[in-house]
Amino acid sequence: MFATLSDRLTATFKNLRGKGRLSEADIDATAREIRIALLEADVALPVVKDFVAAVKERARSEEVSGALNPAQQVVKIVNDELVAILGGETRRLRYAKSGPTVIMLAGLQGAGKTTLAAKLALWLKEQGKTPLLVACDLQRPNAVQQLQVNGEKVGVPVFAPEPGNGTGDPVSVAKASIEEAKRRLHDVVIVDTAGRLGVDAEMMAQAAGIRDAVQPDEVLFVVDAMIGQDALITAQAFLDGVGYDGVVLTKLDGDARGGAALSIRHVTGRPVMFASSGEKMTDFDVFHPDRMASRILD
Ligand code: GDP
Repeated sequence: MFATLSDRLTATFKNLRGKGRLSEADIDATAREIRIALLEADVALPVVKDFVAAVKERARSEEVSGALNPAQQVVKIVNDELVAILGGETRRLRYAKSGPTVIMLAGLQGAGKTTLAAKLALWLKEQGKTPLLVACDLQRPNAVQQLQVNGEKVGVPVFAPEPGNGTGDPVSVAKASIEEAKRRLHDVVIVDTAGRLGVDAEMMAQAAGIRDAVQPDEVLFVVDAMIGQDALITAQAFLDGVGYDGVVLTKLDGDARGGAALSIRHVTGRPVMFASSGEKMTDFDVFHPDRMASRILD
């Protein structure tokens, strides 16, 4: 994951080894290398600019601490700045104070929402919760069935329109699911919504309608990290069209460059909360900015 970025940054730090202090020229050269590394990783330009400016400023102004040599100091600064652009603190899920916590998933078709819904349900179950999955993607053929198959895999019930009952209307299904959750004492409801292949006004309106009907505690935008900077355009469109509280990055296992992962927080102002990194139901975890930064700099 993010191998090129890791390699490039490591090579940059190597050039600084053995230096007693950093000259202005060293700092400039390092900043240039970091800039190239981030651009090659497909990080968005405004993010690259802010990142490099922050590293430069700190490299110039920070007292060289006794314990670290200049090369180590630069590694520390880059690490801190990576943690910062990845969101700083881990953002935990907020649970409702009373009644079921409602989590709504939004994103393009193929982003990995349906898979993610089941992964999240399994993770919640492991936290001692009793989730209910709700199939509100009534557009894509097989989406309901796919959620049911995934629900079965993780042992979590799925609320869906009765087969043969027409396609139903996703807002009514979403509303009814909350009643069902209350009746059956589910403490978390995960609502999977319909996506399209591209950003589309009708899809946004439907997601906004579901949002208004169920008043989610958390709206999570699910995005395929492998699509790079396109993820940022989609993220902005969903921010305008539906709004969301946090981001879930999927397919990190196939994301060689890392551009979306490193840019999305800065571009949207929303924290990455979870990451999915494979097709297995357990390939899922809370997103920890510090751990991700360490992996990049490992
Ligand atoms: P949806 O249209 O947003 O509901 O997307 P799906 O959940 O159907 O996922 C689309 C495809 O991506 C499926 O083939 C999934 O198995 C695959 N997928 C989902 N998450 C991941 C992931 O984290 N890694 C990989 N490699 N594939 C994933």
